[in-house]
Amino acid sequence: MKTLDDLLAEGVSGRRVLVRSDLNVPLGDNGAGETITDDGRIRASLPTLRRLADAGARVVVTAHLGRPKGAPDPRYSLRPVAARLGELLGTGVRLAEDVTGPSARSIVDSLADGGVALLENVRFDPRETSKDDAERGGLAGELAALVGESGAFVSDGFGVVHRKQASVFDVARVLPGYAGQLVLAEIEVLRRLTGDPEQPYVVVLGGSKVSDKLAVIESLLPRVDRLLVGGGMCFTFMAAEGLGVGDSLLEAEMIDTCKRLLAESGDKIMVPADVVMAEEVTADAPTHTVLAAQMWEGWKGLDIGPITAERYGQVIAEARTIFWNGPMGVFELPPFAVGTAQVAQDIVDSNAYSVVGGGDSAAAVRALGLPEDGFSHISTGGGASLEFLEGKELPGIAVLERA
Ligand code: ADP
Ligand code: MG
Repeated sequence: MKTLDDLLAEGVSGRRVLVRSDLNVPLGDNGAGETITDDGRIRASLPTLRRLADAGARVVVTAHLGRPKGAPDPRYSLRPVAARLGELLGTGVRLAEDVTGPSARSIVDSLADGGVALLENVRFDPRETSKDDAERGGLAGELAALVGESGAFVSDGFGVVHRKQASVFDVARVLPGYAGQLVLAEIEVLRRLTGDPEQPYVVVLGGSKVSDKLAVIESLLPRVDRLLVGGGMCFTFMAAEGLGVGDSLLEAEMIDTCKRLLAESGDKIMVPADVVMAEEVTADAPTHTVLAAQMWEGWKGLDIGPITAERYGQVIAEARTIFWNGPMGVFELPPFAVGTAQVAQDIVDSNAYSVVGGGDSAAAVRALGLPEDGFSHISTGGGASLEFLEGKELPGIAVLERA
């Protein structure tokens, strides 16, 4: 697989380089328009962009934001992202008003050496996510045409490398493709986890759904020493143990699978011993903490309780390798953020090699004010890192390896 270093060694001064970055940041409304609530992904994309710009490339960035329905939608414009990217780079970043249309062409044409431009949300074009190879190929051809004959493609959007999409996969078949610095860093970390991780190897899994994470649970269980379960998914495991879970998030169709996992690997899987409950998912709802076996009808479990956090903390303190994906509770609301904050702090305090994967988990680390350098690595890709750990082929990486 060719990398950014190879491209820089070839020389990029004056050449146009298309970079696929992952700039899919959470937006909140501050009343005066959309504001970025967590710019982690923008900051993670800077090293590759800076190195290209410093070497005199004319950098054309393509990225997506949210899930627009294949048509321009001002709610998903990359405008706030272009502004923040420009601030962080310390140069302005001009935003094209379209993906590959007249505005994109004119902005790319006017790029100076070392300049950076951003194309509008690539998912405004329905061909980006089309199942049809020819449609995606058409968009990839237009993206490639923007950078011209001497152009190159740098794949740096780790969060999307598991997607077979025009700006991730197809474009690497029409332009010489190189892996960017972020993609390389992410792969190196995940290889360490799939290779021969130092033991005890502890995986902390939470988040909303078991069904999202089942494949990774199955593939990790044989290799981990402990799986600590929290978040919304723990209630399906608790139901599999025969406990009542009130109105908590429950995936009834997954109960049998959880029963099988507990039967096969029950010695490795830890499920909460106590739970923080409320009737409503609001910041001011009255809460009660109960033993897992005593959950109330009509109440929802929204966080792990203190006994559980303590037990998980003891396992984490002994670990040499930790992978954490998925918050332990509804961390967005302060009354249900305690379990996540405590487990995260225990990971920071441990001596283990620790990796955080998952968009919401990474956002939780920052929202809870934990030091980012307290973890060995915070992955920018949720789905991509899970699929890598499952051992699945990632189309955006495979296409670079085949080139
Ligand atoms: P990640 O993006 O890190 O992979 P997920 O997307 O799987 O994580 O899950 C994150 C979401 O799970 C958060 O929005 C959080 O509020 C929710 N969640 C955590 N615990 C619970 C719970 N007990 N009940 C309902 N939702 C929960
Ligand atoms: Mg998520």
